[in-house]
Amino acid sequence: MHILLIEDDTIEIMKLERTVSKLEVNHKITQAKNGEAALEFLNSENRLPDIILLDLNMPRMSGIEFLNILKEDDKLRYLPTIVLTTSENRVDLLECYKIGIAGYVIKPLKYEDYEHKLKRVLEYWDINELVKA
Ligand SMILES: [Mg+2]
Repeated sequence: MHILLIEDDTIEIMKLERTVSKLEVNHKITQAKNGEAALEFLNSENRLPDIILLDLNMPRMSGIEFLNILKEDDKLRYLPTIVLTTSENRVDLLECYKIGIAGYVIKPLKYEDYEHKLKRVLEYWDINELVKA
């Protein structure tokens, strides 16, 4: 799969890269440091990623602002977007599902738990049929 990771924290980017590199399946990761950069990427590419992993707390454009724009776009709205966050805030959770997400995953603090959880998320999306714009 081609994964678009929207995340501002370098440590978090490294965690996902490390997890993905250990898998038997080859995934490609594209990074964007905030919602603005992600939209720039999505609007410039003619091949869209398969899934988006989205952080919520980011400078310039938050994850929720990004989601709102994504879901109003006729072409981009079908991209499965999984929120990947440390926020257990119920207001965030409700807001994200209301706008439209494919999942909401709380990042465990322990690296082993993170790896285990993310592996399952990626395996699940890997067997899904995607709209492919
Ligand atoms: Mg962040």
